[in-house]
Amino acid sequence: MIQQQPPAGRLTFIRRAQARLGSRLVLLIFTALSTALAIGASQALVGFFGQGDALSAAWAAGLCSLVLSAGLGQQILAQLALQQQWTQDLHRHASQDPLTGVFNRRHFLSQVEREWSLARRYNTDCALLLIDVDHFKRVNDGFGHCCGDMLLCRIAEACSETLRQADVLARFGGEEFILFLPHTDPLGALDVAERVRERIERLNFAWNGHSIPVSASVGVAALQPKHLALQQLVHEAEDALHVAKLQGRNCVRASAGLLSGESSSLMRS
Ligand code: GH3
Ligand code: MG
Ligand code: MG
Repeated sequence: MIQQQPPAGRLTFIRRAQARLGSRLVLLIFTALSTALAIGASQALVGFFGQGDALSAAWAAGLCSLVLSAGLGQQILAQLALQQQWTQDLHRHASQDPLTGVFNRRHFLSQVEREWSLARRYNTDCALLLIDVDHFKRVNDGFGHCCGDMLLCRIAEACSETLRQADVLARFGGEEFILFLPHTDPLGALDVAERVRERIERLNFAWNGHSIPVSASVGVAALQPKHLALQQLVHEAEDALHVAKLQGRNCVRASAGLLSGESSSLMRS
């Protein structure tokens, strides 16, 4: 369950100092400053009222402040660490698919929208792959949802293994994954698609001693001048995936016209 986040901006100064100097040094400075302040205040009070032993007052104020500020400082730093962890967790929950650990659809679209705009503006290549597990319902029906979930995790791992650092992989929905390939021309995209398909086919997935054959179909689309929105590219990849399903599954199909004017889908396996 999501907890209430402390108001943004509170203790920002300490957080910045903590990031720059480290927790121990911040605690030391905080303790030293507050002890010096307490001693100074005790001396001012003794001077103001003109009575009392200045040295004893300084000792008493200094010791009290030392103990209190060290304890309080530690509490504040622990709270800040907790808050930082909370923020990281929140960010992860907002961007990750909880089952497979790859990005979720929302995060994918926001990240890729930016990459896509850059590719369009600077006229560079980019491509999109839609990967759909074949007959996944049969796995769920035959072996249960836990088995299906485990298979999805293994497929996400398999897809991740084929990625370059700049590529963006996400779970697009149920048993469907999406892969954005920046700086990749159509031929390169088809190669990646084929590698992903082969990798999934070679998964050797077993559940309770049963070996379960796994395959996926892949639809490929690449950026062309006619594309005005990312959604168009997604639709073309979906259409190509649909063709792959119709033509027997466990294959890669390219969107119409992907390879400079080639109108029909391209058979890759
Ligand atoms: P096709 O080859 O045409 O893609 O057939 P399919 O069986 O893979 O596709 P279909 O759309 O008929 O079934 C997809 C199934 O995926 C149905 C749904 O219950 C299951 N599914 C969706 N999300 C999850 C999930 O997170 N875990 C599990 N175990 N199953 C899921
Ligand atoms: Mg499927
Ligand atoms: Mg599907």
